[in-house]
Amino acid sequence: MTLPLSLEFFPPKTPEGAAKLRAARQQLYALQPEFCSVTYGAGGSTQQGTFDTVSEILMEGVDAASHLSCIGATKEKVREALGLLDAMGVKRLVALRGDLPSGYGTGGEFTYASDLIAFIRNETGDKFKIDVACYPEVHPQARSAESDMKAFATKVRAGANTAITQYFFNADAYFRFVDEVQKAGLEIAVVPGIMPITNSSQLMRFSDACGAEIPRWIRLRLEGFGDDTKSIKAFGLDVVTALCEKLRAGGAGCFHFYTMNQSAATLEICKRLGTAQ
Ligand code: FAD
Repeated sequence: MTLPLSLEFFPPKTPEGAAKLRAARQQLYALQPEFCSVTYGAGGSTQQGTFDTVSEILMEGVDAASHLSCIGATKEKVREALGLLDAMGVKRLVALRGDLPSGYGTGGEFTYASDLIAFIRNETGDKFKIDVACYPEVHPQARSAESDMKAFATKVRAGANTAITQYFFNADAYFRFVDEVQKAGLEIAVVPGIMPITNSSQLMRFSDACGAEIPRWIRLRLEGFGDDTKSIKAFGLDVVTALCEKLRAGGAGCFHFYTMNQSAATLEICKRLGTAQ
């Protein structure tokens, strides 16, 4: 049995990183992803690396989505990026606001992701399928859960086709978010973003920055393992597989894996779910 899934990568910074990612992708393709997406650095800082990686994935015969963030960007710069992506044969975008490092003024022509989505639709019609980000545990800068849901609705109405969640470890937050989306009359699939746990300090750092909650029982156990990476990985596989099982039992039809450019954990989780080839 295969499970519809997508895989996310970040653009490697070195030739060694690129070679490792190529090898990881070849292993992950056994999962038959619907598409692979590649992140885009703040203010377009990784544009070349993002587009190069997207291009490689397309050449490997797999559908690729480019992330595209708008904070700090001009309309001209986004127009140019859309033209390049179109010429590469890209059909799918993950459209985001992005985050600029603190201390930077935006200096750009977009405020929110919804502005970017409206701009893409205005410039290119239905040429691209557009995925957007959403936050079952509420975006850290949102004034309230309600205003974050309104902001999400604005993105959907601006022309988003699918939503991918920030990662979370509390399935109830996802189920409630999906309920609220339905109650708001928004017809959009909300794909859970799944973060395999392989490195405890990195996970704590990311989660603090992006507002994803690590439940106390998980945090304390990870802290208790110290540098024992074998135990961290074994525990992480149990926790994340159980989360996926709960999500699937509750109706989640597909998953988006934040692979962190590694193959082992995602492959093992899918194997345990009975979906790996
Ligand atoms: P928005 O949807 O614009 O929301 C940002 C904040 O503004 C929220 O608090 C929202 O409630 C609020 N808001 C939105 N509209 C309004 C409004 N009209 N009035 C008042 N408040 C409003 N970052 C990267 O830099 N590169 C990537 O490749 C990348 N990929 C990601 C992929 C996924 C699946 C996810 C979940 C996140 C990703 N991020 C990425 C992180 C993302 O850029 C940050 O979470 C960022 O802080 C918000 O981006 P957004 O597109 O969700 O913004």
